[in-house]
Amino acid sequence: MTRRPGNRPGGFPLGLDRLASTATPGNGAAREPLRPQRLLHQAAQDASRLAVPSGLGLDSAKVRQRMVQRLRADGVRSEALLAAMSQVPRHHFVDTALAIQAYEDTSLPIGHGQTISKPSVVARMIDLLFEGANARRDGQLGQVLEIGTGCGYQTAVLACVARHVVSIERVRPLFDKARTHLAEWRLNQVRLVHGDGMLGHGSRAPYDSVIAAAGGDDLPQAWLDQLAVGGRLVAPMVVGGGGQALMVVDRTSGGWSRHQQEAVHFVPLKSGVI
Ligand code: SAH
Repeated sequence: MTRRPGNRPGGFPLGLDRLASTATPGNGAAREPLRPQRLLHQAAQDASRLAVPSGLGLDSAKVRQRMVQRLRADGVRSEALLAAMSQVPRHHFVDTALAIQAYEDTSLPIGHGQTISKPSVVARMIDLLFEGANARRDGQLGQVLEIGTGCGYQTAVLACVARHVVSIERVRPLFDKARTHLAEWRLNQVRLVHGDGMLGHGSRAPYDSVIAAAGGDDLPQAWLDQLAVGGRLVAPMVVGGGGQALMVVDRTSGGWSRHQQEAVHFVPLKSGVI
């Protein structure tokens, strides 16, 4: 049975609510006079207060809602995507010690030198996918190929707005971690693959949407070949000067057209598996 994240019964076991309950509603630190020196335990208390987005209710759904409001204000247009991001509990996908930062617009370490992408970057890339020809026609992302599963957060968001998702991760422990994170929703429209994403996943091609969370010197030919006519690819790539930019590639019956977007900073795309 397909179960959407928002339909999970019983709330969130990690309890962001419990973590956040040490906080004073509002920005408590601002009401206290500044002192040149603070006792260590007071500094720690202040840090925990400041880490909680201020002025919010203390449950994770409200904190996520605030994150989504920020994304909308920043120009994210797809309502289906915003609804998905208001449902998927990002704090479930990061280590418990980092959960308090899960709804800040920041990337966070997920182990093995890798990071979970910032919410604004996840939203920007998926929003771009929604502007592909097939996605515009269908109102959803169709069949998606994701390269770089990482902790599985973006995979879960994609699963809410796509017909099917194939997600490939080259680092075995991260593949295992994502599988654990995603198992509780039994998302049967998701196939996780431990493999080299530079080769794509030919057995389920073609894909209406291809999205990569790691950037190489060029876009692997397999991704372009496995893109459906009317499909769109969004991926970081190294451009002149050594920096990376987001690339958008649309496939039409006449071929592929590339458009370079804003500068980004992703982990490197590497070949082979570990
Ligand atoms: N979207 C992920 C981001 C993870 S970071 C998340 O939400 O957590 C990018 C990931 O790409 C890393 O886990 C890295 O191991 C993976 N990666 C890099 N090169 C790859 C390749 N050739 N095939 C598959 N995964 C790759």
